[in-house]
Amino acid sequence: MSQRKCPSCGAWNDQLNSKCSSCGELLDRKKARLIRLKKEGKLPLKIEPSPLFDIKPHYAWWQKLILYIVRPIYWTFFGIVSAILYLIAWLAA
Ligand SMILES: [Zn+2]
Repeated sequence: MSQRKCPSCGAWNDQLNSKCSSCGELLDRKKARLIRLKKEGKLPLKIEPSPLFDIKPHYAWWQKLILYIVRPIYWTFFGIVSAILYLIAWLAA
């Protein structure tokens, strides 16, 4: 059985525990950070746009043009791929 070290007090806890048995701190750092951010009202938005297709204001006009053309193609392609994957999963069942 693997063990996890408490980020707060350093005590070793069972991997299955979500909280430290010694101090009660959440063992999942990411979760603990998210909860802390939530408490402070600074929780970042969960859905982040793909940086690759994010049109930034400092982009040159041709970069914006390319992104405007590529983005719908990308989403269409993504839709087709997921449809094919769905079909494969459906056929395999
Ligand atoms: Zn602890």
